[in-house]
Amino acid sequence: MIVCKFGGTSVGDAQAIARTASIIAGRRERQPVVVVSALGGATNMLLRIAEQSAKGQLIGALSAVEALRDRHLKQTETLLRDDATASADISGELSAMFDELAALAEALKTLGDLTPRSLDAIASLGEQLSSVLVVAAFRAQGLPAEHVDARQVMITDAQYTRAEPHPDAIAEAAQRLIMPMVRAGSIPVMGGFIGSAQGTGVTTTLGRGGSDYSASLVGAALQAEAIEIWTDVDGMLTADPRVVPDARLIERIGFDEASELAAFGAKVLHPNTIAPAVMRGIPVWVLNSARPEGTGTLITFDSPRRPVTAIAGKSGVTLLKVRSPRMLLTEGFMRTLFEVFERHHTSVDVVATSEVSVSVTIDDVSRLEALVIDLRALGDVTMERNRGIVSIVGNGLSDGGSAMATALSAIGELRVHMLSLSSSGINLTVVVDGEQVNPAMQRLHRAFFPAAVVS
Ligand code: ASP
Ligand code: MG
Repeated sequence: MIVCKFGGTSVGDAQAIARTASIIAGRRERQPVVVVSALGGATNMLLRIAEQSAKGQLIGALSAVEALRDRHLKQTETLLRDDATASADISGELSAMFDELAALAEALKTLGDLTPRSLDAIASLGEQLSSVLVVAAFRAQGLPAEHVDARQVMITDAQYTRAEPHPDAIAEAAQRLIMPMVRAGSIPVMGGFIGSAQGTGVTTTLGRGGSDYSASLVGAALQAEAIEIWTDVDGMLTADPRVVPDARLIERIGFDEASELAAFGAKVLHPNTIAPAVMRGIPVWVLNSARPEGTGTLITFDSPRRPVTAIAGKSGVTLLKVRSPRMLLTEGFMRTLFEVFERHHTSVDVVATSEVSVSVTIDDVSRLEALVIDLRALGDVTMERNRGIVSIVGNGLSDGGSAMATALSAIGELRVHMLSLSSSGINLTVVVDGEQVNPAMQRLHRAFFPAAVVS
């Protein structure tokens, strides 16, 4: 049994949904369980509808409801054009959900207040709609799809908009509701992202992008052989292709390497969301639904050791340096320093220290002013905005060999503000001027992944 998750673009329109159906048709004998996102862009639109309604802008909200309704009904019509009865049934079912959405919008307008709980009631509609539509589309292509109400499986706590899953309850529900369908030869289809609070059954969501998390939780609950995350890129690449046009596909990557890349700029998927599966030894594939013949990227707990797997980068980083003679030969200074960051809920990315100074980088500058005031109590503070980070990630980076020398010579004369090698030796991070991030990535990529020589 495998779990196949399709993101918003893989179910974005009738053509994409039809392609998704044929991907599943080709995997019948592997007993797929399907998890789908909302139609691409639908969740954003639903959240906007909720906000507008609560602000009293009901006309705008309701016209967005109708635009979203049209989009879903058009896809239904196209996908079910050979079966008028099914088309009418599904259109009716979807339309009823849109009526409910319009009623929710009006209620929010009256209340003039948007609670996380009502936000989830609205945001969850995207996956409720897409899962019904995808079941119908699969059936129209002859696949024995069966709808699973994700809220009966994805049992969570009651932290609306970022609910925490309860893995034991999910495992029990998945075994009870999904497993029999799989055994009977059906193809269960459920929405990702949404769940319900244990005890009350009120609808919750797992947070933005939560469908990958749903797929991983269901895969872990069913002890799946593999999880496939179908998206709109070929997999994870050796660098961002917008910066490094000849970036290439990483065929296999370790979970820890993927996590480092995500933290330092790669955007394909957030590794935390696949942790429940990877930790149980379930391999996770990232695949392109527009090019299903591609090999994709395989993420596993362990991966082949190599010095460099990929280069990531991001700009818009702020560097803070605290110099204090008090640091010399004293203990506890670091703790005091980091408590300041903790107090201001600001997470630190890269750290480097000398005997009398500490440099850290942060992404989130929303508490910067307060942070700096508190840091000044510890020493002289300098702040450098508009820095960037370039990260060289590989689980064999510090195994010896020439990787470090290659990295430093590739960076060449670019101004380096900070350098840090993680203790696990998997990530060499260089802080440069913001505008040097792309050139640094290009140089490093050229050095570690020289273009194939055509002979
Ligand atoms: N539809 C949700 C979102 O856009 C969840 C997901 O697609 O993963 O955040
Ligand atoms: Mg996504």
